[in-house]
Amino acid sequence: MRKYFIALIIPLLPLLYIIADAYYIHPGEFSAGHIIQTHLPALSYTFKKEPPANEQYIYFTFDDGPLNGSENIDSVILAEKLKVSVFLVGEHVQKNRSVENYFKYYEENPFIDEYNHSYTHAKNRYEKFYSNPGGVVADILKNQAFLKLQYKIVRLPGRNMWRIGNRKRDDVKSGSAAADSLAQLGYKVIGWDLEWQHNAKTGSPVQTVSAMKTEIEERLKAGTTFAPGHIVILLHDQMFQKKWAGSELKQLLDELRKNPGYVFEQIRFYPAQ
Ligand SMILES: [Zn+2]
Repeated sequence: MRKYFIALIIPLLPLLYIIADAYYIHPGEFSAGHIIQTHLPALSYTFKKEPPANEQYIYFTFDDGPLNGSENIDSVILAEKLKVSVFLVGEHVQKNRSVENYFKYYEENPFIDEYNHSYTHAKNRYEKFYSNPGGVVADILKNQAFLKLQYKIVRLPGRNMWRIGNRKRDDVKSGSAAADSLAQLGYKVIGWDLEWQHNAKTGSPVQTVSAMKTEIEERLKAGTTFAPGHIVILLHDQMFQKKWAGSELKQLLDELRKNPGYVFEQIRFYPAQ
């Protein structure tokens, strides 16, 4: 019996709706047509809204990957929908088949942007590496081709140097000539404003979460970063060796996300001047 009732009532539903619309809803006030008219301008306003003037940009950058710890980045970043930048060392991919897989994950992850951190990482002998600027450039171009990197954006190994538009900054002299040559080739050379240091063995961070949060807030407020309103933070893949839930990096992220003015962005969106 119930079956027949449902079979009968379904074809009648549009008719019932029309009757209800005509008799029980006040025309011009609550009809479907009216609702659409009033709400459309509000919706388009939401979509076209300009970002508030007090927005500040935070760039999480991870150097030296892919390494142990890198395998966790992919799933964490996808789950958090957090935009990050990784500066990759080609030799790490070439030498180790397991990290080759992490590299593939990076490529498929829309929140992870990949940039150049040289092919050899200077074999960690920086003075020697930078004494030959032509060799540095060749090493970086080799990495660009090997990893098929899309953007001409590089971070020099062991050096905090900047070349953005007409502005430059060097931490030491050695490496300056190589940075100039890369800028002439159209590269943006990216340093960092703040490093979250870590213990090389355990991956545990040196500074506390609250110390990092305070430093980020104060630097942005004071405008003492390379570009005011933008802060580039250097992290290392080893920080992902810990379980994400309860990790210091997640705690910092949760703290920073409480400020609606903070925007997490990838380095290719760093202002050109
Ligand atoms: Zn490095």
